[in-house]
Amino acid sequence: MSISSNIETLQNELTPIGVQLIAISKTKSNEDILEAYQAGQRIFGENQVQELTAKHEALPKDIQWHLVGHLQTNKVKYIADFISLIHSVDSLKLLQEINKHALKSDRIIDCLLQVYIADEDSKFGLDHAEVIELLRSEELQELKNIRICGLMGIASNTSNERIIKEEFYELKILFDGIKTTYFRKDPSFQILSMGMSSDYKLAIEQGANMVRLGSTIFGQRVIKHFKA
Ligand SMILES: *Cc1c(COP(=O)(O)O)cnc(C)c1O
Repeated sequence: MSISSNIETLQNELTPIGVQLIAISKTKSNEDILEAYQAGQRIFGENQVQELTAKHEALPKDIQWHLVGHLQTNKVKYIADFISLIHSVDSLKLLQEINKHALKSDRIIDCLLQVYIADEDSKFGLDHAEVIELLRSEELQELKNIRICGLMGIASNTSNERIIKEEFYELKILFDGIKTTYFRKDPSFQILSMGMSSDYKLAIEQGANMVRLGSTIFGQRVIKHFKA
């Protein structure tokens, strides 16, 4: 299947049920991205800042770029004036840095809190207690140039569907709880980003309204390292 027909098939599947498709284009060429763009896709996600900024410069300006990979505080400045959603916020310190650069760019930057749900060692993501602590912190109230729009999670890399479902279910419960407790009067908290190529159907069953698909659209990633 071609990239453009994959986009069409996925958009026909996801748009009617209110699920937003993020095309994860890491390691993929500008030509591949343009093929998806010409099929109507406008939201793309990358996991590395350097690759993201190079593609943002080279490609059409009406593309909305999302960052889905770990973000170091010293790299926020490279993306602050154009990024449309950061999925991978995992500390107050990072939020403060994003806020600082958003203020300089005269923007409000939309962010998701990345929650650690997988049953495996991972350096990234907040656990439940840390999410709540962050949401309750006074420092957060001072950050006027960021907007927390929801949660993101990555399930375990396993073929056991029961485990994956439980992890997504757990994140949905946390999402609902946070929404009613901390965002009752704030409709901007509405995104639940969960599901990748291997597990997005399970994620949608459990309540995802944003999925991040790479290989389903572009094929397997063969190149490991992007060169600008
Ligand atoms: C690479 C990546 C994806 C997409 O992975 P596929 O399995 O190719 O769909 C989704 N989310 C994150 C955070 C990623 O790094």
